[in-house]
Amino acid sequence: MDKPTTDSRIKRVDHFFAFPGARNDRWRYLNAACADWARSGEGAALSASLLDDIEAYEGFFAYPGRSLLATLRQRIEAGQSGAAAALAQRISESILTRSYKSDPADWQSAEAAAETPPDLNTPTLARAGGHRPYFEVLVVAPGAATRGENITQQMRRLRRTEDAFIYEAVPVGSFEEAICAVILNPAISAVTIYEGFAHESAAELPVLRDFLASARLDAASIAGADLPLSLADAIKRIRPELDLYLLSDRHVERIAGDARASGLRRVLYSVEELLELHLCILEGVDDRFRTPFFDNLKKYAMRPISTFHALPIARGKSVFKSDWIRDMGEFYGLNIFLAESSATTGGLDSLLEPTGNIKEAQDMAARAFGADHVFFVTNGTSTSNKMVHQALVAPGDIVLLDRNCHKSHHYGLVLAGGQPLYIDAFPMTEYSMYGAVPLASIKKALLDLKADGRLDRAKMVDLTNCTFDGHIYNTRRVMEECLAIKPDLIFLWDEAWFGFARWSPFLRPRTAMGAAEAIAAWMEDPASVEAHEAQAKELGKNPSAAKLMETRLIPDPRQIRLRVYQTNSTHKSMSALRQGSMLLVRDVDFASVEAQFHEAVFTHASTSPNQQLIASLDIARRQMELEGYGLVANAIEIALDIRKEVNAHPVISKYFRILGADQMIPAEYRQTGFTDFLTPGTDWEDQVRSMHEDEFCLDPTRMTLVCGTAGYDGTQFKKLMADDYDIQFNKTSRNSVLLQSNINNTRSDVANLIRVLLEISRKIEADLARGGENGRAAFAARVKSLMTDVPDLPNFSEFHEAFRWDAGKKTPEGDMRSAFYSAYYAEGCEYVPLDSPEVDKRLKSGPAMISANFVIPYPPGFPIMVPGQVITKETIDFMRKLDVKEIHGFERAKGLKLIRPDHAKDHIRK
Ligand SMILES: *Cc1c(COP(=O)(O)O)cnc(C)c1O
Repeated sequence: MDKPTTDSRIKRVDHFFAFPGARNDRWRYLNAACADWARSGEGAALSASLLDDIEAYEGFFAYPGRSLLATLRQRIEAGQSGAAAALAQRISESILTRSYKSDPADWQSAEAAAETPPDLNTPTLARAGGHRPYFEVLVVAPGAATRGENITQQMRRLRRTEDAFIYEAVPVGSFEEAICAVILNPAISAVTIYEGFAHESAAELPVLRDFLASARLDAASIAGADLPLSLADAIKRIRPELDLYLLSDRHVERIAGDARASGLRRVLYSVEELLELHLCILEGVDDRFRTPFFDNLKKYAMRPISTFHALPIARGKSVFKSDWIRDMGEFYGLNIFLAESSATTGGLDSLLEPTGNIKEAQDMAARAFGADHVFFVTNGTSTSNKMVHQALVAPGDIVLLDRNCHKSHHYGLVLAGGQPLYIDAFPMTEYSMYGAVPLASIKKALLDLKADGRLDRAKMVDLTNCTFDGHIYNTRRVMEECLAIKPDLIFLWDEAWFGFARWSPFLRPRTAMGAAEAIAAWMEDPASVEAHEAQAKELGKNPSAAKLMETRLIPDPRQIRLRVYQTNSTHKSMSALRQGSMLLVRDVDFASVEAQFHEAVFTHASTSPNQQLIASLDIARRQMELEGYGLVANAIEIALDIRKEVNAHPVISKYFRILGADQMIPAEYRQTGFTDFLTPGTDWEDQVRSMHEDEFCLDPTRMTLVCGTAGYDGTQFKKLMADDYDIQFNKTSRNSVLLQSNINNTRSDVANLIRVLLEISRKIEADLARGGENGRAAFAARVKSLMTDVPDLPNFSEFHEAFRWDAGKKTPEGDMRSAFYSAYYAEGCEYVPLDSPEVDKRLKSGPAMISANFVIPYPPGFPIMVPGQVITKETIDFMRKLDVKEIHGFERAKGLKLIRPDHAKDHIRK
C-alpha cells in the first residue's frame, strides 16, 4: 500500500477525475496512520491532518455522518490513539465493504451501540424486510451546515416497514456543494431542493468553479436567474437519471408550469406533509427499479403450467428426468427452465410485436438512454445494424460509410441494395490499425455529390463511435456540418462498444443521443437562426466548395430534420447476456418509417427470441439507471490507473506501453492541443475542453497495449496471457493488444495485471542478460520486425467500372449488391492463387482483378476487399504479408475468388 500522505492533489475537494477510489484511499491512509500511531506512539499530527482532508469531502456522503466523524475527531484530539484506530478501521472497512448499507451498527461507535441499541432513527428497519436496496438523497437546503443533523433525523423518521428501499439524507447548503455531491457521490439517487440556498460554498473549490464557469453555471452567469431551477437544470445535465423534487413556498402551480421545471419530477408545497415527499422519492426510485419484463417472467416461472407447445426444455422436465442430460439441469439450475417458454401469452409479450411488458421495458430503456424509441434485439448488434439498413435504405440510395466498420454494415447494404460510398479513416500504420473518418473527408464526399447533382441520393452517414480502438467522434459537430450540407441526412452511429458512455457526463455529449439532444436544444434557441444567417451572409451566394470545406458550417435550424439512430451491443458494456443489443431511435420523421422498421424486425428477428436475453436487457437498463454513474466512473478510473501504472513503471515501461491520445490521434485532430490524460500538467479542465472541442478523443477505457517492444506479436501475447495467466484481452493487432476496462473491473484486476506484466518484463530482462550479445541482437531484430517492418494498410481502391453504371463522376460509390450476386454464377468467376505470378502479371498489365466477395482478415477485422472492388498492389502486398490464420472469404488453396471482367456486366440488376 502507498504511504499515507497529505499530498495536495488528494486534498483538493473538487478533484473529480479519480473520485471513486480516491475516497477509499483517503480512509485507508487514515486507518493506516491511526494504526501506526497506536502501535508506535508517532502519528497524531498526521492522523489529524488526514482527518481534515477527509472531513472536507465527507459532507457529500451520508456515511459515516457527522456524529461518527465528531467522535473520531474527539478521540484523535484527546490523544486516544487506540480508540481512534479502532474507529477509523471500522469506518474504513464499512466504506470498503459497503456494510453500512445494511448494518445499522456501523452507524454508531462500538460504545454507543452497546449503550443504546439502534432505535427507530437508525436504519434498523433496513433489515426488518430482508434485503432492501440502499440509496442516498441529496437535500439542498439553506442552513444545511447547522441544520444538517436535523434534516437527517427528520427523514429517518419517515421510514416505514413496508418501504421497498431505504435511504439516508445528505444535506448541503449551496449550489456549488450540490454539484460537488452529485459528481462525487454515486449513491445519490434523488435530490430534493428547498428554496433559499446560496450559490457559493464556503469551501475552496477552484476546479469546480472553473468547471461551472466553463458550463456557464458560475454565480455570475446565473445571477438573476431562478437558482433552484438553474440547479435542477445543471444536475440534469450531469446525471439525467436522478429524480429532482422542488419544495417551494411560492405558487407551486406556477413553477410546475414553467418550461424550465420540466426536469423536475414533482414540485411540492414545502409545508405539505413530508411523508408525501418520502413516498415520491420511493416511487421515483421504484420507477427505475422496476423491470416490467423480468418481473413478469419471474412470476410466470413460478406458475404451475402444463405446456403443450414446442420447446420441451421449458419447465425442465425433459432435463431433470433424464439419465443422460441431468447435468445440464444441475449446472444451470431450475429457474432457467422454468423461465423458458415459447408462449407470448400468460403475461409474456411478443418481441416481434410488443404491446405489453416488452413494450413497456423498451419505453423505459428509451427514457434511460435519451431516445424516443428503443428496439430490443436478441441477435446482437450485427442484426440491429442490418435492421437499420433495411428499414431506411432503398436500392440505389447512397450510404457514406467507414470502410473499416463492422461487417454487418457491409452485408446490410448488400441486402438492402444501398450503394456504399466508402470513406477512409486515417491510418495508424505503425500499429496496423485505422483511426476514424475525418470530418473533412465526409464533407468532401457530400460536396462532391452535390457538385454532381446527386446529393438527393445520399441517404445516410454511417460511422462507428467509438471505434474498436477507442476513437470517439465529435458527434455533434459531424452532424451539424453534414446537416448544413443536407438537412435531412440520416445518421447511424454504431456504438457497439459505447453504450455505457451515456452514464458518464464526460462522454455523454459525444454519444449519438447526447449530441442529438444538444442539437435539438440548439434548434430551439433563437440565437441559432441568427448564427446561421450571419454565416450564410458571410459565405455569400453559391460559396465555393473550398470555402465550405474550410468553414465550420452552421446548419439552418429551420430546415433540419433531425434523424439519429444508434445501435449498441448492450452485452459488450453493460450487464446483458451475450447478443443482447438495443437499437435507439431519435428521428423526427420516425412515423414515416415505422412500418419499415416493423418489416425489418420481421425480416431479421427470430420468431423464437430468447426470454432470458430480453430480461437481461431490461435488467441492464435498471442497473445503469440506478448505479451506472458510479460503475462507469469506476471503469474510467481503473483505466487511468492501468495507463499510469504501465507507463510509469520503471521495468514494465521498458517493454510495454499504453498508447496515449497523442499517439492514437494525429495532432491535426486534437485542436485544443490536448496530449493525453496522463501528461504532466494536464488537468480535468483540459480533458473537458478536449472532449468538447477536439475532432477526435480517446475513450480512456480502451487501452492499446504495445507488446511488439517486448518481442511479442499481438496474437502470441494474447495467447500467452490467456494460457499462462488467465487474463483475457479483447482484440490484437500486429504489435499490440487491446485491453478494456469495464463496469465489472476492480482494483484487484489492476494489481493482477501489473503483477503479471512485471513478471513477464523481468523474464525478458533475465533472458536478455543470459543470452549475451547474440540474444540481444535477436531480440532487437524481432522488435524491429514487429515495430518497423509493418505492412502499409490498403485503403479502399475503387469499384470496377461495370459496377459503377449508376455512380457519379466525382464519388466512388458502387453497385456492390450486383457484384455480390455475380459470385453466385460459377461461369463468371475465376480463382487465382495469391502467390501465383499471374497475380503480378495482371496487376501490371491487366485484365483487372475484381474481387467476387468480402475478404475479411481477423485481425484487423475489416474487409480489405469487397465485392466488385478492383484489387490493387497495395491489397496484394498486404495479403501476402498478413500472417493471420483466420481470413473470412479467402481459401488459400483455391486463391482469390474473382469476377471475370468479361462477365462483370452479366448480372447487373438495374
Ligand atoms: C461487435 C460489434 C458489432 C456487432 O455486435 P454483436 O452484438 O456482436 O452482433 C457491430 N459493430 C461493432 C463496431 C462491433 O464492435
